[in-house]
Parts: sequence; C-alpha cells; structure tokens
Amino acid sequence: MKPQLIVATKNRKKLKEIKELLKDLDLKVISLSDFPNPPRIIENGKTFRENAIKKALKTARFTGKLTLGEDSGLCVDILGGKPGIHSSRFAGKGKSDLQNNLKLLKLLKDKPLGRRKAHYVCAIALADKNSLIATVEARCYGVIGFQLKGTYGFGYDPLFIIPKYKKTFAQLGEQIKHKMSHRFLALEKAKKVICAHLKS
Ligand code: IMP
Repeated sequence: MKPQLIVATKNRKKLKEIKELLKDLDLKVISLSDFPNPPRIIENGKTFRENAIKKALKTARFTGKLTLGEDSGLCVDILGGKPGIHSSRFAGKGKSDLQNNLKLLKLLKDKPLGRRKAHYVCAIALADKNSLIATVEARCYGVIGFQLKGTYGFGYDPLFIIPKYKKTFAQLGEQIKHKMSHRFLALEKAKKVICAHLKS
C-alpha cells in the first residue's frame, strides 16, 4: 500500500495544484476534507511560515499521518507587502477572489507598470504526528496588471503578469504556471524532504 500524505487544506483549487505537482511521488495524496470533523485551524500566525507550521502540526496530530501544511499569498511592493498573509480575505472575510482582485486594482489605480511589482510566496511545513520535520519557502516574481485577464487558476492569477511572457498566470495556464510558480518551486524543495523522510 502506498504511504499517505495529508494536505492540510480545504481549498479545492489549491489542493488540485498540489496534487498535480506531487503526482510523480509514489504517494496517496489526500486532504483534510477527506476526514470527518476535521479540526478548525485558525490562521493567526505573523508569517506564511508560521501559518504553514500551524496547519501541518494540527493536522498531523489529528490524522496521525505525514502532513503537508501550505500557506501562500501575494505581496505587492508598493503596498508594503500587502495583502500578504491576508491574501484570501483581503476584501473582507467571505469575499470572493474577484472582490479581492478589484480591491487590489483600486489600490493600485494610477500606478504605472514600473510601480506594480509583486511576488507570490509559498511556505510549506512538513510534520508527522510527533513533530515538525522541516519548512521550505519559495517566491515567484511578477507585476500586477491593469485589468483581469484569463480564466485559469485562482486567486490573483488574472492580475499576476509574468514579465517574460507579458501574460497573466490565468492566461498562461497550467503548463507554464506549474513550471515556475511559488507553489511549484516550494514543492520541489518539499519533495526532497518527503523522499528522505520516507526512506528514514
Ligand atoms: P491561504 O489558503 O490562507 O494560504 O490563502 C491563499 C490565498 O493567497 C489565496 O486565497 C489567494 O488569494 C492567494 N494565492 C496563493 N497562491 C496563489 C496562486 O497560486 N494564485 C493566485 N492566488 C494565490
């Protein structure tokens, strides 16, 4: 039987990306939503790393299995790193990705392209039922567009332009996003830790 890896998220789009990016590992990847009465994890850390650790430890203790906690978000230079750890609730609790994007566009109104630099961050924590195993982090750099473009992905992807392609992640699609995203880069590091841990 394949070893299991629990992904400590209930975000379906994020889970889909993580599963796709881990498909070359000989693991059965399941999510917190596959368990009845999963614990509620309060994301009150001050950094992406702190939140990722919280997700991983709480879920690993609950499931008793190897767990991956992921926390990610968008940091815009001219906004002092906002929305940052508050990316999913930038426009308020329960608001949609579209509302978050529209808030960002409003804040950047009148700012020229040169002042719209941003990066995504992805922090990953790996834990088993006893303790934290490791944390890794990665970034992906881009600029915020003037209007939403494209339909692929989620969150801020319709605004996040990759300068090399002059297109948003939502226009570029999975083929390209999964070769250069913050999540891809962090998971490449995490995979090495997972493989070493499974062999130990
Ligand atoms: P989390 O689930 O608390 O880690 O929040 C992640 C939030 O950051 C998402 O809801 C998005 O708003 C944003 N985000 C993180 N990664 C991505 C991405 O790959 N594309 C677009 N938005 C992202």
